[in-house]
Amino acid sequence: MNPVGKNIKQLVLWVLAFFLLLALFQSLKDMNTEEEIPYSSFKAKLHEGQILDFTWGNSVLRGQYKDEKGVLRHYKVIPLPDPDLVKELDTYKVKTYQGEADRTWMTAVLVNIGWVVLFIALWYFVVIRQVQIGGKQALSFGRSRAKLQNAKSKKYTFSDVAGCDEPKEELQEIVEFLKDPAKFQKLGGKIPKGVLLYGLPGTGKTLLARAVAGEAGVPFFSSSGSEFVEMFVGVGAARVRDLFEQAKKSAPAVIFVDELDAVGRHRFAGIGGGHDEREQTLNQLLVELDGFESKEGVILIGATNRPDVLDPALLRPGRFDRHINVPSPDLKGREAILKVHSKGVKLAPEVELSVISRRTPGFVGADLANLVNEAALLAARRNKTSVEMTEMEEAIDRVIAGPQRKSRMIQDKEKRVIAYHESGHTLVAKMLPNTDPVHKVTIIPRGPALGFTMQLPTEDRYLTSRTEILNRLCVLLGGRCAEELIFDEITTGAADDLSKATAFAQRMVTEFGMSEKLGPIAYKKPDEEIFLGRDIARGQGYSDNTAQLIDNEVKRIIQECQDKARELLKKNKAVLDVLAQRLIEKEIIEAEEIDAIFAAGGAAA
Ligand code: ADP
Ligand code: MG
Ligand code: ZN
Repeated sequence: MNPVGKNIKQLVLWVLAFFLLLALFQSLKDMNTEEEIPYSSFKAKLHEGQILDFTWGNSVLRGQYKDEKGVLRHYKVIPLPDPDLVKELDTYKVKTYQGEADRTWMTAVLVNIGWVVLFIALWYFVVIRQVQIGGKQALSFGRSRAKLQNAKSKKYTFSDVAGCDEPKEELQEIVEFLKDPAKFQKLGGKIPKGVLLYGLPGTGKTLLARAVAGEAGVPFFSSSGSEFVEMFVGVGAARVRDLFEQAKKSAPAVIFVDELDAVGRHRFAGIGGGHDEREQTLNQLLVELDGFESKEGVILIGATNRPDVLDPALLRPGRFDRHINVPSPDLKGREAILKVHSKGVKLAPEVELSVISRRTPGFVGADLANLVNEAALLAARRNKTSVEMTEMEEAIDRVIAGPQRKSRMIQDKEKRVIAYHESGHTLVAKMLPNTDPVHKVTIIPRGPALGFTMQLPTEDRYLTSRTEILNRLCVLLGGRCAEELIFDEITTGAADDLSKATAFAQRMVTEFGMSEKLGPIAYKKPDEEIFLGRDIARGQGYSDNTAQLIDNEVKRIIQECQDKARELLKKNKAVLDVLAQRLIEKEIIEAEEIDAIFAAGGAAA
């Protein structure tokens, strides 16, 4: 809390204490020192000349008298109607007599004021302070809290980001643009407004965004999606507006929104309604994105680990229209990252970073940075002059066990399973006609998938034939079949393949009319979302009998594809072994190398 707030708090406390004490003092004084006497004895004392003074209050008479021993005492009398009293006071020579405003009334007021103060104080502590905590920035409510990377803080460049050449290449264009927006404006080329970096945590997305600004030498406004989701509706939206205003003022500039999924989650998702604040913020973000021209020289870079939950509206052309995957580093990439981070660390000559890289499959950049740091700390603790191999090896274990792990370590056994799984996809894809060529295959995690077989279509296609779908199903099932063939065991890794395959088969039967048994009938209207039980209420639109038939057909199609894939893999097990072995060694194989393996292995369909 700020000093003014503290002073007010203390002041309130003191005032409160003062009033309480005053009220207490008043009542104590009245109670203890005054002696209540009957009116008759008052009269008697008056006639004997003992009463010294007299005060006529509204409901009580009080004053002092001298008793028989000559001691001064206070008295209090409840008055009676006595019209001659004043005359008697004169007659018996009471020195002073006077009237008085009602003192009990005064006390009541004081006590009441005390209560009011007490109430205000309570209200202050309970309500106001809550609000102050929530709105510490009461004065800068709608201000963006984006931090501007100032000139003094370390400038990152692409040389600080190792092992992700593809994203760097794709971002190069943005850098060129930011360096000289005027040049692009003259040529009239379209530059993306928004770039979305996605990939596992710790793969260097934030680092890359900073490096873009650093390379181009422009200001970097860094903010995080979670900053925009506040207690009060509308604050997030105001912050977004402010952020864009600030950036435009210092254009060319980069605006970076980390954790974009915190604001950019699919609206209307989930039962139970949306989050008003987040929705408003997201809408504001969309408005800003639509409202500015990239010509102005502002580029928005977003980062997320969950591109799948983003609202599709964000990804539409003219918004975050460039999507760049920041993959986990492969063998060479890990070595390069280790090299970057051990620049400032004294390594013993015997340390071979390639060996460390080989031992850390699944580590992302953040893990590797952490590893080097741990090793350096260990060496320092042991009073060594340089970091030796033992420290590096121990650091690996520490990072694996440590809480800051960004990724999961892939065990050797797992690596073998994933390698065979991916090789299975690749082999089936290579062997079957009418499938998209395999572009590359990797066992480095990419998003939620453990491995990845990348097939690129040679041409745009709007129609897919039945054979093509069937072959695609075979490719999808090939991974699981390869696991089964080699390890005689299947793992959970094939779940995504299976759900994709099932979905394909289901659409073949119910949408495309590709099953003879069920005929060319569309059993389900495409693109109709199941919306809160509406579909349940309306029923399926076909009989239970037909549902059974559909299930059987889907099952049959999948079964047949699986048999075909299994057959192919069995026949070409030698090639499968070579592929898997190569994958375990290199973690990533490109198209040419795959072709070479198939040419040498003499694979046959
Ligand atoms: P993300 O934003 O993807 O979660 P960060 O960019 O925050 O990951 O990375 C965290 C740290 O990990 C960085 O500060 C850097 O030290 C290290 N790091 C991650 N990726 C790399 C990389 N490719 N090259 C060098 N260092 C990296
Ligand atoms: Mg980050
Ligand atoms: Zn698979």
